[in-house]
Amino acid sequence: MGQHDGRVAIVTGAASGIGRATVERIVAEGGLVVAVDRAAEQLNWASDHQRILTLVGDVTSVETNEEAAALAVGRFGRLDASVLNAGISMSGDLMTLALSELDRVLDVNVKAVVLGIRAAVSAMRPGARGGSIVVTASTSGLAGDPNMWPYNTSKGAVVNLVRAASLDLGPEGIRVNAVCPGPTETGMTMRIKDAPEIYESLRRRVALQRWGRPEEVAAVISFLASPDASFVTGAAIPVDGGITANTGQFLPCEKHRDLAIGDNQ
Ligand code: NAD
Repeated sequence: MGQHDGRVAIVTGAASGIGRATVERIVAEGGLVVAVDRAAEQLNWASDHQRILTLVGDVTSVETNEEAAALAVGRFGRLDASVLNAGISMSGDLMTLALSELDRVLDVNVKAVVLGIRAAVSAMRPGARGGSIVVTASTSGLAGDPNMWPYNTSKGAVVNLVRAASLDLGPEGIRVNAVCPGPTETGMTMRIKDAPEIYESLRRRVALQRWGRPEEVAAVISFLASPDASFVTGAAIPVDGGITANTGQFLPCEKHRDLAIGDNQ
């Protein structure tokens, strides 16, 4: 038995990275998936798959979200889970970045999640079977990063949106959770690979001393989207190799034995 046998999910941002790995994981677990992305060519990987319907569209539009839900119900007969994963990164100077850029990142990373929740809940409601919504937030939604305030703002907002939505939808049996990935090798972070000093500095901050793989985030998303997580809601789960376990005072693996810290030195 797979985690998603006989179940139907929507996954946004499905052309690449964590979204693509999530589609692959849910399908491998027996599910059917409506895979949504605005990048038509990159989404082609899924177009000939019998258990996947592709939808090219922008998640910031009401129509794309409603169409995804309508496809799930119309073509696959139901909607059990929606993985609202599409996102963009954004950095810039706090004092000078154009506010239109802030609007852009909030549109994709926050407003589109509201639209995705509304569309999914409307499709889940008639059957009274409940459902599961999973949002890809970020460790950058749990604390700040230098020069990344627009992204931090958007991901912090979405973490608290998930908590609030879980309270409003819980009585209907609809669960809402977030995953908070740390540095993960995807399309979004590809450019960092070309800057070895940044890649390496991030790697050293991870307790496990390596970057994450999209499949490792997808495994947790798949769990949260499935009935195996039936009593988990309102949670923001780090999938970060231990980055957020650190107070930030010391890098993992640095030897501090010689420092006079605490009473037992
Ligand atoms: P990615 O760039 O590989 O994939 C993101 C996908 O979202 C792309 O295919 C892109 O076309 C799609 N997308 C973006 N805006 C869209 C829109 N308006 N409409 C439709 N599709 C849109 O990056 P990823 O790392 O797989 O990102 C997935 C999620 O993970 C994002 O929300 C991102 O913020 C989050 N995240 C990533 C990391 C990381 O290190 N890679 C860390 C924390 C959180």
